Amino acid sequence: MEYIELNIRTENAQQAEILTALLSDYPFDSFVEEDAALKAYILLQDYAPCEQEVARMLLEQGIEQYEAVLIEQQNWNAEWESDFEPVRVEGERPIVIRAAHHAAAAAGEVDVVIAPRMSFGTGHHATTALMSQTISEMGVEGLRGLDMGCGTGVLAIVAMKCGAEQMVAVDIDDWACESCRDSMALSGVELDVRCGSMAAVEGEKFDFVLANINRNILIDMMPSFAEALSEGGRLVMSGFLREDVPHIERAAVEQGFAVESVSEREGWMVVMCKKE
Ligand code: SAH
Repeated sequence: MEYIELNIRTENAQQAEILTALLSDYPFDSFVEEDAALKAYILLQDYAPCEQEVARMLLEQGIEQYEAVLIEQQNWNAEWESDFEPVRVEGERPIVIRAAHHAAAAAGEVDVVIAPRMSFGTGHHATTALMSQTISEMGVEGLRGLDMGCGTGVLAIVAMKCGAEQMVAVDIDDWACESCRDSMALSGVELDVRCGSMAAVEGEKFDFVLANINRNILIDMMPSFAEALSEGGRLVMSGFLREDVPHIERAAVEQGFAVESVSEREGWMVVMCKKE
């Protein structure tokens, strides 16, 4: 598999975040924010069909020039692994998200070891950190949960380490599923990893669902989330910006959810709902 790296010069972190959100409407797999640049990664075969539309969207955002570089798989992995620093999410019980070569978390902390490969979910993104914090605070002891769009599996691992009874982790991307299996072994937890989307859990019931994807996909999935949750079950969503919240809330309420909380980190939101 070959990837294209778009290398876009950015003026500030806010611009990088807006571009990340806009590019998330296309099949980009991951994003890396650097000092004055945003790198966005997409499979070569996925790039061709949306190349012109992406260029038009970027132009609307005032970006006339950017680089599109073909990346060999090997370089890509090396880049991820060398770039990756441990992340600490503060809270009642701090969570440390790290790679295998970093020092283990201290006793009393939630130690999450991930193998990122090409998958999103190192904890560096505000949404992953805020989702992790929400999981540790919402109380998942003894519950069965679904992590839809699991990436590295970071959220499912956090949930298991916070006492969940069982987690099903699903992602549409083969690389994410592989990364999730590696991460679960490194973290010493068992996950039920499945490649696919909501159809992979059809007919099953969960006590809670985690989904950190993007606004449009979450809205499309809302009826399936309602079906997959037991009564009183919780749906925790992220991957969208403040202005998207009313759309997410409306779609959730239409499917019989009550909005319980809305939180924010660096302009990114987490919405938690309860199935009535
Ligand atoms: N849960 C991780 C990763 C979030 S990135 C975290 O919180 O950090 C979003 C993930 O959703 C990606 O791995 C992407 O492959 C996956 N995804 C995108 N669309 C999907 C779909 N329709 N069904 C399942 N997974 C999807």
